[in-house]
Amino acid sequence: MRAILPSAAGGPEVMKLEEHPTPAPGPGEAVVRVEAAGVNFIDIYQRSGQYKIEPPIPLGLEGAGRVEAVGPGVTEVREGDEVAWSGSPGSYATHVRIPVAKLVPVPAGVGAKRAAAAMLQGMTAHYLVRSTFALGPGHTCLVHAAAGGVGLLLCQMAKRLGARVIGTVSTEDKARLAREAGADEVILYRQVDFEAEARRLTGGAGVHVVYDGVGNDTYAKSLGALRLRGTLVLFGQASGAVPPLDPQILSQKGSLYLTRPTLTHYTATREELLERAGDVLGAIARGELTISIGATYPLADAAEAHRALAGRATTGKVLLIP
Ligand code: NDP
Repeated sequence: MRAILPSAAGGPEVMKLEEHPTPAPGPGEAVVRVEAAGVNFIDIYQRSGQYKIEPPIPLGLEGAGRVEAVGPGVTEVREGDEVAWSGSPGSYATHVRIPVAKLVPVPAGVGAKRAAAAMLQGMTAHYLVRSTFALGPGHTCLVHAAAGGVGLLLCQMAKRLGARVIGTVSTEDKARLAREAGADEVILYRQVDFEAEARRLTGGAGVHVVYDGVGNDTYAKSLGALRLRGTLVLFGQASGAVPPLDPQILSQKGSLYLTRPTLTHYTATREELLERAGDVLGAIARGELTISIGATYPLADAAEAHRALAGRATTGKVLLIP
């Protein structure tokens, strides 16, 4: 098989597509031929060393493809099944060995590309709007990087739940995409103070919840954009890590709530994984959720894909095709 397994953390250039022995499935495992692998911001944190991983670094947590072999005792999937996964390392490869407990079936009509594109970012948007802060009519949410992978899905899901959606983006092109995905208002946050604008748009009250995956550049003003007892959902750090916070600030700014969630804990059991993935993939199959694939790259060009994502040059999902 061919895989990207950097022997040390570093810049995009450490990602080289090389020959490696194709793995054999052990008990409870399957080997899947990867048809599409998702690129996610966490891959950049892992590749660059911001999140420490023991080398060789098995990049790529998400994908879709067909089961090629199953290990002893496996009954959940069979050779030829179309499956998708997230949270399983080594997906930047032609083949990947995965515990079958991580695999979910891909509904008819969805296809490998949309399934790979939906797993990590789709289930993230799903838990953010349904479980971390359960949105409904009467709520106003602020979604940062609203034209990004998670962002476009957040806009769609929040809108469908009846919330008012305010998005932030860096460019007019991204603003158009966010609006198409359901954002009622879009703020160009490199030009306009989003804290003041979010307050103005809510008659001075502030928003119920901020979904903030940008991190260092936005978290302080995100706190300031909240209404009394509002919630800051800090779920990423695309602009850099957030420094330690004095909890007193939550009191001063209005008895606020702060949470720092991660998908693993919202797909903690097999049941929860199947339910979330089933909801997201089912919505795609029914045409209720649109997956915007902004760019696809050959697997060998993973470095280019990382440069584009880190350089804010992408919208929606970025995929690698082995
Ligand atoms: P995106 O497609 O959203 O790309 C990141 C976007 O962040 C950029 O396009 C850009 O949008 C914005 N951004 C703002 N400042 C910067 C900066 N300095 N450098 C780079 N980008 C910046 O990525 P993903 O959808 O993959 O992920 C979004 C966030 O969600 C990430 O922080 C990621 O870690 C997090 N995440 C968290 C999960 C969890 O469970 N906690 C799971 C999945 C993702 P613009 O140009 O409009 O500013």
